[in-house]
Amino acid sequence: MSPDLRSAARSIAARSYRKLGSLGRVALGDDAAAAPAAPLVDAPGNAPQAAPGAPSNGPDVEAPPWLPLPPAGGVICNVCRWQGEGFAGSAHVELALCPRCGSNGRDRFLHWCLAERVELSPALRVIECSPRMGQDYRAAMGTWFFYRTSDYDLRAHAGNLRLDLQAIDLPDACIDVMLCAHVLEHVPDTDKALAELRRVVAPGGHLLLQVPVLQGRTAPPTEPEFHGDHTPVFWRFGFDLTARLREQGFHTDLLCTQAFADAVASGDNPWQEWSPEFDVPDILAGARTDGMADDLVVVADPDASRRLGIDPGYMYLTWDCAVR
Ligand SMILES: [Zn+2]
Repeated sequence: MSPDLRSAARSIAARSYRKLGSLGRVALGDDAAAAPAAPLVDAPGNAPQAAPGAPSNGPDVEAPPWLPLPPAGGVICNVCRWQGEGFAGSAHVELALCPRCGSNGRDRFLHWCLAERVELSPALRVIECSPRMGQDYRAAMGTWFFYRTSDYDLRAHAGNLRLDLQAIDLPDACIDVMLCAHVLEHVPDTDKALAELRRVVAPGGHLLLQVPVLQGRTAPPTEPEFHGDHTPVFWRFGFDLTARLREQGFHTDLLCTQAFADAVASGDNPWQEWSPEFDVPDILAGARTDGMADDLVVVADPDASRRLGIDPGYMYLTWDCAVR
């Protein structure tokens, strides 16, 4: 679609997204292909709802992700549209918190990748696996899209669908966007999960996949590893994940910041001090192996990275896995 047409479409969608969203939900709710086959555990048949009258610390529902960000001299949270002088905490993918909605760096990068890479509309069927953000965010997503959350055992992250990624209890091609951030490393059989994810994403759809990339190549942890929510980690992924996604039939790009792409191209390590859980020399070596640099697609220039608080660049990668 041309930029003009795309801009016009976004403008129309912005004016009518609430109405379209309601119509879309009604239409899709009765569609067997869209209806979840798995039992709905904690919110039967309903999109997430904010508590009536509760003060919202979440996104501005009037500003869906397809609306361009306003100009801002300081920083801006692209999830909730909060603007200020800086995010809370140090520059780190798990920190740099938005004081309004609590998004961290990777939440904002995922949301940015969604807006940059997907032709957004209120009728999109979106499932987010184990979202880190809370009820206000989920309620807003439920306003913008036909949105459901899922979780494996509803223990660490309450979701409204109970899904095992290795055997997804959903029909083929029933999802337009699967948001899957920091979940795959907790699944024992990666290829089985990727095959299932490929099966449920509809033609024209996307899986946006984030995993912690702490090293260049995939390997199991050398000692038992648990994330903050006490979930065991089975795999530490590297850049060879791209080939495995392609083996399942996804058309895959690896989305990154300009800073990361420049670092890979330069042959040097521009980060002479780095957060110790990231093996930055090994990450850069992995990204320079076997033409993997050709898979990189820059979605955030230095200005976007600064405004969104997605820095340092080596911490931010998202696989965009399209189904054609
Ligand atoms: Zn925010």
